[in-house]
Amino acid sequence: KIKQIAIYGKGGIGKSTTTSNISAALSKMGLKVMQFGCDPKADSTNTLRDGTYIPTVLDTLREKSQVKAEDVIFQGFNGVYCVEAGGPAPGVGCAGRGIITSVQLLKQLKVYEELDLDVVIYDVLGDVVCGGFAVPIREGIAEHVFTVSSSDFMAIYAANNLFKGIKKYSNSGGALLGGLIANSINAPYAKEIVDDFVDRTKTRVVEYVPRSVTVTQAELQGKTSVEAFPDSEQSKVYSKLAQRVYETTESKVPSPLDTAELRDWASKWADHLLAMETGEVRGRAAAI
Ligand code: ADP
Ligand code: SF4
Ligand code: MG
Repeated sequence: KIKQIAIYGKGGIGKSTTTSNISAALSKMGLKVMQFGCDPKADSTNTLRDGTYIPTVLDTLREKSQVKAEDVIFQGFNGVYCVEAGGPAPGVGCAGRGIITSVQLLKQLKVYEELDLDVVIYDVLGDVVCGGFAVPIREGIAEHVFTVSSSDFMAIYAANNLFKGIKKYSNSGGALLGGLIANSINAPYAKEIVDDFVDRTKTRVVEYVPRSVTVTQAELQGKTSVEAFPDSEQSKVYSKLAQRVYETTESKVPSPLDTAELRDWASKWADHLLAMETGEVRGRAAAI
């Protein structure tokens, strides 16, 4: 059975970077992987393909009456299959519908069976402000959802919105939450914030991924860290993350915070961080 996973998170938080490294790591474990970019930016799979862009499904559908699998599926690092749904022309149509259209096309072409895939990972926009971007959750496209978040409030806010979306569709066969991938976690307080958030929302951290210059260096070469620096600490983290994501069999309904709870939670942390800072200043003054 194909494992279908969706990765959500606030724009710029590291979804595509994380997803591409997971795909690369899973392919190195011998699995047949497809990465399906569901962001109108259509740059999800770049680092799997030496920084190059591939034609999107929606553009191809607009240009051709008969679309074949090879028009929209391209292989990248270690044989990973890459697809970009793309988006409607700006100002026209619904991006969510575009995702449905793209997935339906691949299903019609029986691509998943023919390629004998083990895993499909959807890299989806994270600010779930509408029903459109909830499509992979709502339509039974994915079974397991993960969110990428740092300890920044806006990222946590987007993750909490995603949890609301998952909860909403959980009774009608929607995808459930596998957990939170904590990205750019370097300072100890960042880990504490994320830990507290998953605690409050009854989910878990799948893996802590540090912010690392390895990722930047790899990206500048148009590659994932797993490809460019396979022996680096960062690649080891991505491999562990990929394993954990792949081994997730039981996803759950999260308990999102309501707006007032989330504000209280944030202001409690603001006070705490301020106290930490002044404590540090006092500590230093005493040392002098
Ligand atoms: P998204 O897909 O969520 O919009 P990207 O994956 O494109 O975000 O990442 C945005 C930027 O952040 C990229 O330049 C990427 O290299 C960088 N980045 C993401 N995660 C890390 C990390 N752990 N360490 C260093 N840079 C990172
Ligand atoms: Fe855009 Fe969402 Fe409205 Fe679709 S439902 S047009 S994705 S805002
Ligand atoms: Mg992206």
